[in-house]
Amino acid sequence: MHPLIKRKKTKVVWVGNVGIGGDHPIRVQSMTNTHTKDIKATLKQIQELYSAGCEIVRVAIPDEDSVKALKEITKESPIPVIADLHFATLLGEKAVLSGVSGIRINPGTFKNRKNLERLVKVCKDNNVCIRIGINAGSLEPSILKKYKMPTPEAMVESALNWVSYIVEKFDYQNIKVSLKSSNWWESVRAYELFSEKSDFPLHLGVTEAGGLIPGTIKNTMAISYLLLKGIGDTLRISLTADPVEEVFVAYEILKNLGIRTLHPDIISCPICGRCEIDLMKLYKEVEKWAKNIKADLKLAVMGCVVNGPGEAKMADLGIAGGKGIGIIFKKGKIIRKVPEEKLLSAFFEEIEKFLKEHPERLIH
Ligand code: SF4
Repeated sequence: MHPLIKRKKTKVVWVGNVGIGGDHPIRVQSMTNTHTKDIKATLKQIQELYSAGCEIVRVAIPDEDSVKALKEITKESPIPVIADLHFATLLGEKAVLSGVSGIRINPGTFKNRKNLERLVKVCKDNNVCIRIGINAGSLEPSILKKYKMPTPEAMVESALNWVSYIVEKFDYQNIKVSLKSSNWWESVRAYELFSEKSDFPLHLGVTEAGGLIPGTIKNTMAISYLLLKGIGDTLRISLTADPVEEVFVAYEILKNLGIRTLHPDIISCPICGRCEIDLMKLYKEVEKWAKNIKADLKLAVMGCVVNGPGEAKMADLGIAGGKGIGIIFKKGKIIRKVPEEKLLSAFFEEIEKFLKEHPERLIH
């Protein structure tokens, strides 16, 4: 954990067998972008997300066909499934009865209070976690009338009202909260304010963040700021990209804050005129390999023998290129010299050897 972080201890809630809040690790979530009614495609994507380290997956429930698909999806999924609902509470009830472990609702969009009450009751009867997903764009009229604008304070008041409504009326506490606005800094402020006033766990996320690069930057700025302040119990990086990338970005953020590691950290140089090998290609291969291994390792991919090992002394193992040859180094010391074409396979061999000697570095 980063020395500056003092994580707030929130209440513990459960999404299936995954604990969120309290001393549980900060959980990584994602959402499928398949049509949920396409069971095969949805399960394939869930499997890919799971392999990347996703711990909870959300699926959209826009219609009856999607709800019908849920029985098989929840039965086959290796991780708990959350149903994402807009407006239709009756679909929500059916989703709960189809085995989902959580639902995400935006109560501001539910006009029929009786239906909402029925949904909460079904969730309670089945111990299904409810995420109250407050959205600045759809706050209830009474709050908007009071604040004139969907300010962070307005979002927080709405969230607190819904939390106490469920806790007091239904005596149900398996609840987490998200507070999203299209202005990420307003979301951040709302999360801070909520965290000052309530101990319910928070689901962090920046909505409509954009594609891989701009979206990663926006998410990283907002989420890192909150995590550094000790706020947040689970997160989803939302990107207009393959959702598997969302999981990798989430772990990069957690790893760089010293909070959680899942995949190896790769140090690599920006390449300059001293480089005599195809470092870009080497880097991509190492990165691809690293995404498929769960281990606490620091690897280095450096352009030249002269500066590489010294600049990447902190790496457990690294490679650096020369003219037609490459070297493998361990904590800055050269352990092998190999022809360039054999560099990659020799490097992977050395990493496997290292992991056999240090099984404690593997993450299960
Ligand atoms: Fe240039 Fe070598 Fe440094 Fe890479 S490691 S940036 S090739 S000096």
